[in-house]
Amino acid sequence: MSKIRYVAKKDLANVPLSISQLGLTVLVPVISPATAKPSIIYEPWEKEKEFTFAKAFVSPKSTVFPECETLFEYKKRPSPVAPDENWIQLSEKDERRDTVIFGCRPCDARGFDALDKPFTQGLFKDPYYAEKRDHIIVIARTCNTGCETCFCHWVGGGPTSPIGSDILITELEDGFVFQAITEKGQDLLTRLSMPDGTDKFPEAEEIRKKAWKSLVPAPDISGALESLKNIFTDDDFWVSQTDRCISCGACTYICPTCYCFNITDEGVPGSPKGGRRLRSWDNCMSSRYTREASGHNPRAKKFQRMRNRVSHKFWTFPENWGSYLCSGCGRCITNCPVHLDIRAIVLAAIEEYRKKKGADS
Ligand code: SF4
Ligand code: SF4
Repeated sequence: MSKIRYVAKKDLANVPLSISQLGLTVLVPVISPATAKPSIIYEPWEKEKEFTFAKAFVSPKSTVFPECETLFEYKKRPSPVAPDENWIQLSEKDERRDTVIFGCRPCDARGFDALDKPFTQGLFKDPYYAEKRDHIIVIARTCNTGCETCFCHWVGGGPTSPIGSDILITELEDGFVFQAITEKGQDLLTRLSMPDGTDKFPEAEEIRKKAWKSLVPAPDISGALESLKNIFTDDDFWVSQTDRCISCGACTYICPTCYCFNITDEGVPGSPKGGRRLRSWDNCMSSRYTREASGHNPRAKKFQRMRNRVSHKFWTFPENWGSYLCSGCGRCITNCPVHLDIRAIVLAAIEEYRKKKGADS
């Protein structure tokens, strides 16, 4: 079975159609005309719906880690054995939906790979995440060039990285090459009966090489982990890197790799005996994130929160999991209202430690 398939440009719209005919939901990036400045967001594909391969403003993270999800519903029932007591009856939500994410970028696919580590590879497997993750197929489109704000090649990825993807698509002059990366991807290509594209693959490889050549060479950030560890208590450094942050949290909400969440229980209106447990995205840049019931807050100041965010992504997460908690998508840079740039902070941290080491020796 060929791992490489080909679709002519004029037939591309048939691909989501064929996938949906298999009974799968297809999410595609669409240009949303709702505002004067159109957004590019993921929406379920429907017949005749136009889609784009432009990079979406938000990542498709919410397919596996929704902004807000019901973990389970509960009801209180009188105990049949002790009439003065209540029993809690739980009913789980069935979240299984086979979904294809069609046309995200390699940095978004790497976002799934990053999330897999804490949610499925640690001491405990998160069943809510794992259930959804098992039921998605990621089809990423390789990028033809880099851009000013993306830096995937600094952090172990690249414009053609297969990490996190089940299928990679590369755009040729007259069509698209589809390359199966995983068994799941191979299975889907086989079910779609797309024509073999092996003879087109050399052209795709040339385009992929050109994409790499178009990138501004990455600086060496291999010292980030050690540097961040050693300047953790340098408050002046962190204050200087954070002074104009307004703690809005846009950088975390929009990030394909951020995974802080909060759990709340909510009663069902009109039903004093029932409710549901919700999991919602949280935001470590907010002062409320670490505020304890006593009122004490270990990260009350914004420099402490920025220090935590950057250190988690470039020190503690790689120390625990072997890769950065950042896919270099650049969304936190393009969407920060005060133009803070995580790349500049990491480079400044490396430089600060270099100076500190020089002064100590
Ligand atoms: S988006 Fe910018 S201003 Fe908002 S919390 Fe993040 S770094 Fe601070
Ligand atoms: S930290 Fe910024 S650049 Fe890195 S994955 Fe998150 S949003 Fe993208």
